[in-house]
Amino acid sequence: MRPFKYTNAASETEALKSYSGTPNTKYLGGGTNLIDLMKEDVERPDALVYVADLPNNKIEPTASGGLSLGAAVSNTDTANHATVRKNYPLLSMAMLSAATEQIRNMATNGGNLLQRTRCSYFYDTAMPCNKRDPGSGCGALKGVNRLHAIFGWSESCVATHPSDMCVALTALEATVNVQKPDGSSRKIPFVDFHRLPGDQPEKDTNLEPGELITSIDLPEPYFSDKYYYLKIRERSSYAFAIVSVAAGLQVEGNTISRAALAMGRVAHKPWKLANVEKFLQGKPATTETFEQAAELAFEDAKPLDQNEYKIPLGKRAIVRALEQANARA
Ligand code: SF4
Repeated sequence: MRPFKYTNAASETEALKSYSGTPNTKYLGGGTNLIDLMKEDVERPDALVYVADLPNNKIEPTASGGLSLGAAVSNTDTANHATVRKNYPLLSMAMLSAATEQIRNMATNGGNLLQRTRCSYFYDTAMPCNKRDPGSGCGALKGVNRLHAIFGWSESCVATHPSDMCVALTALEATVNVQKPDGSSRKIPFVDFHRLPGDQPEKDTNLEPGELITSIDLPEPYFSDKYYYLKIRERSSYAFAIVSVAAGLQVEGNTISRAALAMGRVAHKPWKLANVEKFLQGKPATTETFEQAAELAFEDAKPLDQNEYKIPLGKRAIVRALEQANARA
């Protein structure tokens, strides 16, 4: 590992100030991804600013009836928090499907949003990768791309976003609060937080340099009763999804009044299915409706050489996630 400057920030102000002091600085949360990347020489920061001990470590109600998740709260404490379990069980279910208990104990909410793709070319410094080394090419585009994107990819990058938590936050329409280096703050709708690769795959998010995630706001709870996070993976623990679906339904009688739907591991960002949510509104909550929704979800899919299987798999996953959500009392 290369030498780097290390600061343990005591406040957000100190973190922001420390960030601007050294070029190529990274904020460090639990370190469950960044430290691995530094060991592999994929990430080479000149300085780390430790932000997991900052005071933004609370989960508390928002003025608008939602819930604020502090960026420094661990994934374990978030997933097991009584209000998250009661009002946002979709988020809890998604988070508890991720990684291992030990990793969830270390990982922070802010860090989860910033974890990087698990594309194997990105981790192998002997291979071309535009995300790691802009301009070097994309090894996966014509290489081993079985686990890669089927939506929104570019010739520059076909990677997928790995997080489970972020798929649920996308479905639930969360908002990310960030503080800027000048001390002001801004809110980013979750669906706009991560970005598609375009010709700048080195950028995973729409954060500006130095911006610090302080919290994530969940809106009023709408999907506390009927929800499901379906994660299709190659083994049942400590594995990333091949395809995942976060589904929430509000049903009156047998009619869907509101739906939340997002997919994971199909694009460079968590994939919100807004058109499918709209389609579901006012429809009967039946398998036939869910099958129509699944067809609609994949209308624009563009598979690579090795991942066409994600289309039928993803369709079945959507139907099953919606059926499981609807089957809950
Ligand atoms: Fe790199 Fe993206 Fe291509 Fe993977 S898919 S090799 S991360 S540019």
